[in-house]
Amino acid sequence: MGPKSAQRIAFHLLKLPMDDALRLARSITEAKERVSFCQRCFNVCEGEECGICLDTRRDATLVCVVEEPRDVVAVEKTQEFKGRYHVLQGAISPLEGIGPDQLRVKELLARIRIEEIAEVILCTNPNIEGEATAMYLARLLKPLGVRTTRIASGLPVGGDLEYADELTLGRALEGRRDLEG
Ligand SMILES: [Zn+2]
Repeated sequence: MGPKSAQRIAFHLLKLPMDDALRLARSITEAKERVSFCQRCFNVCEGEECGICLDTRRDATLVCVVEEPRDVVAVEKTQEFKGRYHVLQGAISPLEGIGPDQLRVKELLARIRIEEIAEVILCTNPNIEGEATAMYLARLLKPLGVRTTRIASGLPVGGDLEYADELTLGRALEGRRDLEG
């Protein structure tokens, strides 16, 4: 959330009647208690595993790696992808002090060891952090012998996946290419 939206929300909250404020506080607490992260893919979910991981019709050999749960929503909207996800919960960003240890990288490697994953699609954002994360993961995955692909360019550079329209993102997924580590 940017500083402008945060300020708008803060002013809105200040104007709320006390009753509404208490009700809002209660819903936030309840949501916090109920919603957690999927133990397999780290998407948001209620319970231990998310609906996508639990869906037996989906291809468990195909894993799409994204930065945030909102990117899962963006890829789902394309209706082009029938595999599972792995949410890193961020991207590598030296400027913000975020390295691989702060992301769900270890968990991804563990899944590749345990699950029968044939292909990992690196679907991080087409910006500096997203590209750096994809390159880092490609190098890490190479020795594991799993096919590693990157979504095609053609997405607005510097943008976020969530702002790409379904058609463009769908095409980027379809046109993914193999990465050399
Ligand atoms: Zn999941």
